[in-house]
Amino acid sequence: MEEARRLMPGGVNSPVRAFKAVGGEPPVIARAQGAYLEDVDGNRYIDYVGSWGPAILGHAPEPVVEAVIRTARDGTSFGAPSPLEVELARRVVERVPSVEKVRFVSSGTEATMSALRLARGVTGRDDIVKFDGCYHGHADSLLVKAGSGVETLGLPDSPGVPADFARHTLTLPFNDLEAAKALFSRQGDRIACVITEPIVGNVGCVLPEPGFLQGLQDLCRAHGALFVLDEVMTGFRVHPGGATAFYGLSPDLVCFGKIIGGGLPVGAYGGRAEIMAQVAPEGPVYQAGTLSGNPLAMAAGVATLDALAEEGVYDRLDETTEQLCRGLGEAAREAGVPVVQTRAGSMMGLFFTDAETIRNADDVRRCDFERFARWHQGMLRRGVYLAPSQYEAGFVSLAHDEEAIERTLEAARETFAELV
Ligand code: PLP
Repeated sequence: MEEARRLMPGGVNSPVRAFKAVGGEPPVIARAQGAYLEDVDGNRYIDYVGSWGPAILGHAPEPVVEAVIRTARDGTSFGAPSPLEVELARRVVERVPSVEKVRFVSSGTEATMSALRLARGVTGRDDIVKFDGCYHGHADSLLVKAGSGVETLGLPDSPGVPADFARHTLTLPFNDLEAAKALFSRQGDRIACVITEPIVGNVGCVLPEPGFLQGLQDLCRAHGALFVLDEVMTGFRVHPGGATAFYGLSPDLVCFGKIIGGGLPVGAYGGRAEIMAQVAPEGPVYQAGTLSGNPLAMAAGVATLDALAEEGVYDRLDETTEQLCRGLGEAAREAGVPVVQTRAGSMMGLFFTDAETIRNADDVRRCDFERFARWHQGMLRRGVYLAPSQYEAGFVSLAHDEEAIERTLEAARETFAELV
């Protein structure tokens, strides 16, 4: 890490990896297999970060590794149309209701940034609405009240984002439909879109209250704005058809990343055919990428989505995560440590607080961060790798078996006992 810090800012290529919120040195990872990470010193960890979401099958799953190797033999990038793009596009369109056409990009940031440009291009309006604590990648317009890494570092907004840009980003508290209605009634005719994470995975894991997402969608429809669902984290995670299907929504645009690339750099945005027809070359809204639709990334995405199409996969994820969460709750209660737990499928949150519920980013800010840091350090010492911030969700994969869960709960019982 010392050498890394000499060569790269903070020694990392994405800020949260530096463990600033919890202290200590981050393990430097040499390899990963199944539910486990192994660092360069040979220590093994049960992993609940899953590369921040993509590793839903576990690490280095055979079908994905095979597909990438096989594809690489035929060339790693063409910069031209290729059949694998069609294969992945077909799977996305078949599974996610309301997505009729899709454009592949290389990250979640590119997906949301491009979806916003499209929403602005289609509506001819400049303002966008986002929710406090939702992270949609680091594009200028979206780096306002952006949760997760920004929050972890205590940077409410980033220097370098022009005030003229930020002024077009209107922010509201999550789960507050009344606030959204009031904003729309004041200036709904200037709003191009509402963008939201359906389940906020960037302030832990905060669930939408019944009717909130549907209410936002209705508001957008009533005022001629687009409803953009950022499913970079939830897509193919909480349900085979993402949160869109899980909550029965019909967003105008949906953004993807993480799982859709099976661990390779991919993002995508898609929606109704008439909206996507506005994207170049069919329409005037420009967006491009040298490595977009990259064959290795498409092959990894196809292999991942195919593995997720097997019977019973989501039930298994659900059961394993439920078993883990139940065990963690019991361990916390036994030790007398007050926590709030949240879960959506194999995505979960654990908040150190004596509050009843967690509804939004402000509730998370009131949690006990010193206790979280000790929890993180204690679990890491016992071989369990958790996201190094209370502002992050945890992820369970299909590779987390009975033994991994039992060992995690053993570590949790010991760690909770140290926290009182
Ligand atoms: N949207 C959401 C909901 C995310 O969680 C993330 C990343 O964590 C992004 C967008 C940005 O994706 P990427 O890091 O691939 O640019």
